[in-house]
Amino acid sequence: MLAGKTALVTGSTSGIGLGIALSLARQGANIVLNGFGDVQAPRAQVEALGVQVGYHGADMSKPAEIEAMMAYAQAEFGGVDILVNNAGIQHVATVEDFPVERWDAVIAINLSSAFHTTRLALPGMQARNWGRIINVASVHGLVGSAQKSAYVAAKHGVVGLTKVTALENATTGVTCNAICPGWVLTPLVQKQVDARAAAEGVDVAEATRRLLGEKQPSLQFTTPEELGELAVFLSSPAGNNIRGVAWNVDGGWTAQ
Ligand code: NAD
Repeated sequence: MLAGKTALVTGSTSGIGLGIALSLARQGANIVLNGFGDVQAPRAQVEALGVQVGYHGADMSKPAEIEAMMAYAQAEFGGVDILVNNAGIQHVATVEDFPVERWDAVIAINLSSAFHTTRLALPGMQARNWGRIINVASVHGLVGSAQKSAYVAAKHGVVGLTKVTALENATTGVTCNAICPGWVLTPLVQKQVDARAAAEGVDVAEATRRLLGEKQPSLQFTTPEELGELAVFLSSPAGNNIRGVAWNVDGGWTAQ
């Protein structure tokens, strides 16, 4: 369904980003990967699906590196048809104890990077009159949780950016939507489970039960594969007139 399209997924060496890259590749999209850590394993997983795969290691906190990544996608793949803004980090502390440097990093990586990739991808999408911008926000784009001020502020910002981008392109073939997952078991969340186990003196299984029980009524993690299939749906013709939504995949978290 997506043969001939190119998808750039930020933060796709791990977790949700990799899950979305794999789902889009299964539909035939060529993939530009981005992110830190081991690149060879995720690259091999996507290549095994028979699509062209590129990689750019831009640091999403650095606008000049984001510009270089978008120029790379233009030069190697002729532009970006599906942009998935997924890279993100977390830091947990009360507002009064929040390290200023962590605040700046969370806002830069989780929010400002999506502005930069979007502003750079839009002219090509508009010229081709087709594009999909999928912002991986969070339930924290819709509701708050204690000790996550920077993350919640950034994700609410992403939902706002999504709406404005959707409106500005509403008469074109370019759509922009946000995906709002609840808990997904990735390295980002495993760190929070481990911290909880240590703080509460319980094993990881019990810490997991407590984590889910507090917020996610399904008591199940959402999976990267489920989010990947939602990205495929939004990229399909059925998504032509889905514009500016923030779509929860949260086991009922925000229904409460
Ligand atoms: P993860 O830690 O598994 O993956 C994050 C990815 O971003 C990695 O590829 C990492 O290398 C990359 N990354 C981090 N900093 C970067 C930087 N400065 N420049 C470029 N790449 C960078 O995390 P995840 O759980 O898969 O999270 C992905 C997205 O999903 C994030 O935006 C996160 O906020 C969001 N999210 C996660 C959950 C969850 O429960 N895991 C829930 C809701 C939303």
